[in-house]
Amino acid sequence: MKKYGLIGKKLGHSWSAKWFGEKFEREGIADAEYRLYELDGVADLRTWVERNGLKGFNVTIPYKEAVLEWMDELDETARGVGAVNCVDCRGGRLKGYNTDAPAFAETLRPLLQPWHKAALVLGTGGAAKAVAFALKGLGIEYKFVSRKPVGEAVGYDEAMELAATHLLIVNATPVGMYPATEVSPWPEPQRIGERHLCYDLIYNPQETLFLRQARQEGATVCGGLKMLQRQAELSWMVWNRATEEE
Ligand code: NAP
Repeated sequence: MKKYGLIGKKLGHSWSAKWFGEKFEREGIADAEYRLYELDGVADLRTWVERNGLKGFNVTIPYKEAVLEWMDELDETARGVGAVNCVDCRGGRLKGYNTDAPAFAETLRPLLQPWHKAALVLGTGGAAKAVAFALKGLGIEYKFVSRKPVGEAVGYDEAMELAATHLLIVNATPVGMYPATEVSPWPEPQRIGERHLCYDLIYNPQETLFLRQARQEGATVCGGLKMLQRQAELSWMVWNRATEEE
């Protein structure tokens, strides 16, 4: 049995086990399982991986940065983002990947118009860093928007002004996520118009209040479900590329 899984702190509503279970069923993959592992920490991750006999695993909140110290190797994207959401355990070595960044880039690209040259990225956490890395690759300039701006980040008041020229707005905060769905990270929806593209990384609900309001203002909108699916597909490709190399 090839064992895969997801590590995180609280995984009660995790979508990944269901997605992989359905994939294995649909594709007749009988020798693989994908389980959820709720961990209190990642101290001695290597021993934990060996004990559980994992071939590969995904990493979610709050361990995407904490696992870095256990990696024997990092792929270029994980190094650039500074976070790992996918680990390949082939040959007893742990190689960290970041499939969030390419998943975001690939799902954003078909929606881009020539006027989407500058972006506002709401939030400054791991997801925001993956988004920023992807935007760099796409040649889109960006500013982080933070409640406590430091360095090059701007505050929300300034972001409202910048919306006139920054026509791509990405929500990389958890604001609006189930169960607190009636809040939005973007306080002035009237600043958004038809030329805006609004992308919310949140996938539950599929349309957040931020996206609903942006859509009502005429913007193009995209929720986080496609990105979530793509990062899972890319993780599967990482683990299987490893298998072929064995
Ligand atoms: P996080 O570290 O918990 O938070 C990200 C940032 O959001 C924080 O650094 C903070 O920035 C801002 N923030 C947090 N609480 C806030 C609040 N109450 N009001 C305003 N801003 C707040 O989360 P994350 O791991 O980066 O993930 C962010 C979201 O992306 C989550 O909803 C996650 O589920 C989603 N996500 C989706 C995918 C996908 O595949 N679709 C992949 C990864 C993540 P400041 O302190 O600077 O304001």
